[in-house]
Amino acid sequence: MLALRKPAPAPGLVLQDVPEPGDPGAGEVLVEVAAAGICGSDLHLDDWTPGYEFMAGAMPVTLGHEFSGRVAATGAGVQGLMRGQLVAVYPILHCRQCVNCVRGDTALCLNRRALGVTLDGGFARYVRAPAANCIPLAQGLDPALGALVEPLCIGDHANIVGEVKLGETVVVLGPGTIGQAAARVARWRGASRVVVVGLRDEARLATARAVGATHSIDLASTPDVLARFRALTGLDHADVVIEATGHPASIADGQRLLKKGGILVVAGIHAAPASLDLVTLVRQRQQVRGAHSSLRPSWDVMAQRIGDEPESVRAMVSLSLPLSEALEGFARCRKRDVSKVILQP
Ligand SMILES: [Zn+2]
Ligand SMILES: [Zn+2]
Repeated sequence: MLALRKPAPAPGLVLQDVPEPGDPGAGEVLVEVAAAGICGSDLHLDDWTPGYEFMAGAMPVTLGHEFSGRVAATGAGVQGLMRGQLVAVYPILHCRQCVNCVRGDTALCLNRRALGVTLDGGFARYVRAPAANCIPLAQGLDPALGALVEPLCIGDHANIVGEVKLGETVVVLGPGTIGQAAARVARWRGASRVVVVGLRDEARLATARAVGATHSIDLASTPDVLARFRALTGLDHADVVIEATGHPASIADGQRLLKKGGILVVAGIHAAPASLDLVTLVRQRQQVRGAHSSLRPSWDVMAQRIGDEPESVRAMVSLSLPLSEALEGFARCRKRDVSKVILQP
């Protein structure tokens, strides 16, 4: 089968023929991938920017960690999943042996592995996954929307870490898929204002508005983000800022926007250190928190939400291409005139 792989710890990806994964083992499912999204981290992996060195030992590896597909076969002991059923796949596998897993805190597993990162993922026709990681999707759901469960769960997790509450004002820095997802989820959680900020990124800012952002700011026309925020909202500061840019300069913007006692959630992967005004941090009792990946409970909630309200997220998908045109899909993502690009194996 055709697979999009990271062959070595150096720039570049390859499309190549690889053997099919074979029959699922006990407790496993063979998933026939229907739709797999290209993530910003896949672009970083293609470029081989710093921050992904931990993957080197797993290469060559098939990428693709945001995918939906149909159950093609089930291994011994698998219950509750039927052949042909559409599922989203939680890509994280916890070791269940490290000190944190043994304590029951699998979110902090020290040896986590992930489909599409350190285990073969969804940029291929078939992938093997633990049955427990397969979340049934609504019957008849567009598989491309099923592939959005993963980024929406990342957005949900950032909202959970930021403790976003009813009636709050949330600023999301970065209008990419994670920013769009964080904005959508903030609205689901009852935030009354969600302001998404980008730089020369009008197409993706428009998508953010289409999925629920109440306001957007393009820094190209108004570099003073705080002044623009105040003009748009009539508020002095935001309750929560979720950073999803990966650009260290955005951290200073995020801190300036934050109220006394507010929470700045850093969700981007930054290739360089950022500076923080620690005097303000201390005196304003601001909190800076890292949010990474997602926890399993978010998956059931987001799968249900997408099933109930597919139109509320449809604008996030810009384009679907066959897997054979994966490299074209990557090129489109870099132009930032599209939001999520889906590959169909
Ligand atoms: Zn992703
Ligand atoms: Zn562990």
